[in-house]
Amino acid sequence: AKREGGGRFRFFEPGMQLRVQARRQLEEDLRRALEKGEFELHYQPLVNLAEGSVGGFEALLRWRHPQRGLVCPDEFIPVAEAMGLIVPLGRWTLARACADAASWPQPLRVAVNLSAAQLADPALEETVAAALAAAGLPPRRLELEITESLLLRDTEDTIALLRRLRASGAAISMDDFGTGYSSLSYLIKFPIDKVKIDRSFVLAMDERPEGAAIISAIAGLCRTLGIVTTVEGIETPAQRRQVAGQGCTEGQGYLFSPPCPAQAIPALLERWECL
Ligand code: C2E
Ligand code: CA
Ligand code: CA
Ligand code: CA
Repeated sequence: AKREGGGRFRFFEPGMQLRVQARRQLEEDLRRALEKGEFELHYQPLVNLAEGSVGGFEALLRWRHPQRGLVCPDEFIPVAEAMGLIVPLGRWTLARACADAASWPQPLRVAVNLSAAQLADPALEETVAAALAAAGLPPRRLELEITESLLLRDTEDTIALLRRLRASGAAISMDDFGTGYSSLSYLIKFPIDKVKIDRSFVLAMDERPEGAAIISAIAGLCRTLGIVTTVEGIETPAQRRQVAGQGCTEGQGYLFSPPCPAQAIPALLERWECL
């Protein structure tokens, strides 16, 4: 059903075919990347705003592509999720992150992002326990970050799962907070230890006073509920001062440090102590 010229019956657009092909290539590359060990974790500090101290690091996945260089997760995680690779990739990530964190000074925590498919994986608890045990990392040094939008699904099952993970000693963080629906009721409904306030609110804070009011409302409610707040995407000293003034617990962003390779952490911590 292909006819050159008029194009009316061309079911296969040249551009479309290319996209399908590129997609297939990417899937193949990704599958091989896991086998060949092309993934790495970069770490970004979580900074206590009152004390200026580092409380831990968030693990952020990178793909060291032989031709394309360092690839950011937004470019491959959606594909890894769609092709079912995120479960084995997430297992690798948990193990790597726990192993790296075990070499850091004692109380420092590591935060690991979880995808929907991992939450739905019946082996998740076992995977988490195995990663901690293999690394010899105490569970209280692990935080699991779950995006707010994931919590919309199978509410009862998710709540039960989060309870069990928490009972095992790991902390639960609600990521990208404020970007979905009925966020505030989630704070009461779900067993969570930390809320990560999305960067969009920091940008809104710069633009108009209402933006600051939203952050301070979230921080106030979280404080009442005994939930730690981390503000994402802090890039300027003014933003840091403002969110600290609103009672947020932690900050994360380029102002403190970009995500950096695991090998850079000892130097980063040393520099920190001198500040
Ligand atoms: P996220 O969990 O919200 O992570 C924060 C993102 O903001 C990171 O992007 C980080 O590099 C970036 N960021 C940090 N500070 C600043 C700042 O001051 N300004 C700006 N503009 N951006 C900042 P990254 O590393 O590209 O990761 C993007 C997303 O990919 C993450 O968003 C997370 O949803 C996902 N992701 C990363 N690693 C993993 C992983 O291991 N597993 C899963 N399932 N998802 C991951
Ligand atoms: Ca995150
Ligand atoms: Ca986030
Ligand atoms: Ca985000």
